Amino acid sequence: MSGLFGVVSNENCAETLFYGTDYHSHLGSQKAGLAVLNSRLKRSIHNIATSQFKSKFIDELSELKGRMGVGVISDLEPQPIIISASFGNFALALNGFLVNKNQLVRKVMARGGSFSEVSSGQINAVEVIGKLIASRNNIVSGLEYFFNSMVGSASLLILAKEGVYAVRDKLGRTPLTIAKRGNKLAVASEDSSFANLGFKTIKQLLPGEIVLLTKNGLQEKIIGRKIEKICAFLWIYTGFPASTYNNQSVELVRERCGENLAKNDNIDADLVAGVPDSGIAHALGYARQSGFPYRRPLVKYSAGYGRSYTPPSQEIRNRVAKMKLVAVKEVIVNNRIVICDDSIVRGTQLKNQGINKLWQNGARQVHVRIACPPLMFPCRYCLSTRTRKELAARRILAKIIGRKITDREAGEYLNSKSSSYKKMVDLTGQELGASSLKYQTVEDMVTAIGLPRGKLCLECWLGREK
Ligand code: SF4
Repeated sequence: MSGLFGVVSNENCAETLFYGTDYHSHLGSQKAGLAVLNSRLKRSIHNIATSQFKSKFIDELSELKGRMGVGVISDLEPQPIIISASFGNFALALNGFLVNKNQLVRKVMARGGSFSEVSSGQINAVEVIGKLIASRNNIVSGLEYFFNSMVGSASLLILAKEGVYAVRDKLGRTPLTIAKRGNKLAVASEDSSFANLGFKTIKQLLPGEIVLLTKNGLQEKIIGRKIEKICAFLWIYTGFPASTYNNQSVELVRERCGENLAKNDNIDADLVAGVPDSGIAHALGYARQSGFPYRRPLVKYSAGYGRSYTPPSQEIRNRVAKMKLVAVKEVIVNNRIVICDDSIVRGTQLKNQGINKLWQNGARQVHVRIACPPLMFPCRYCLSTRTRKELAARRILAKIIGRKITDREAGEYLNSKSSSYKKMVDLTGQELGASSLKYQTVEDMVTAIGLPRGKLCLECWLGREK
């Protein structure tokens, strides 16, 4: 996953670009980059795995002067990439993932192209896209050529002499929103990045739409499509609570998820809590619907860690996760607790840092409620979820069946009314050490999001939909 921000102005935009990009720090923890255009393109990229975006870029702001710029926070490639083309130089930033990257690499190489941005022995996907765009006569036809060749997902920002191009892939897996402040225009993955910078949203890009932000206004280059498969996981976990996508507020969707979980529940409890931070809004919805008080048996100590702090080794990551969540014994002792979380990927953090801490501090019961169905498939588009073997649901199914399961067999466990589904959920709950475990159903999750099911990507849960 990555977060994108771009701005076009009549004056130096470095500070707006800096803060706008920083508001995407929850979407990536490895690399960050800014590119600005004044008389020429200037770029800076840093590794942010062990320190925050702000601390890496603040000292460079005076050097990154320009009237237009793009910024990106990323979990994958170093970017933006600067490409030299017959129609001029441009800087390119990507939020997405190319499923057919190798095929596209061969396509570039067959035309005599080569690659320079090789990190960790891998060809940089952003450079591949840049080379494909540069192989045409102008940016718009280059983008059309790329989108007709690619499989995967890609929201892109391109900084060129004429302005900032913003574009979503044909199925619009990830959002981009345009906003205005006076004669400044901005574009962002998260529209929550606009408010404190004084920008007002003017439109969300449609799938396949290409627009150009210039100092004279917004130019429509290619009209968007109505067909869409926007990532449902944005609302459940990855998106920032203050954002909206397709006019659906992330925070309100999460509250509705919690309400749905409570409507389908029949337990008695003394309090409801969310695993900080991503389970909190789900828990608030559960508490409102159930009437049980919302309280905080687990609080997060984030001072000094920073939201984007990702230590280099798994061992240190586990230690940091353990240190961050602190139990409030006085709230826990002797209570029957409903604890809500967004999802279960591996389940180890939830068990070790959440459920176990509640038991160790004297909880009487610990009921786990999860805001989305069991994750059965890894994400092919933005890598928000990991490999098959990491997923807790797959691990449990392998235990039940006695061997690794196929995608078709995983699909058979998706019917939330079937006895095989119940068996899988009960066993997962036992492994977590919970008094009980329940997941939200696909149908309730779709209702909570508030968009027609056909407009959502649900592959994490259902696999590839025909
Ligand atoms: S597979 Fe999952 S995380 Fe990936 S785009 Fe679809 S819903 Fe989002």
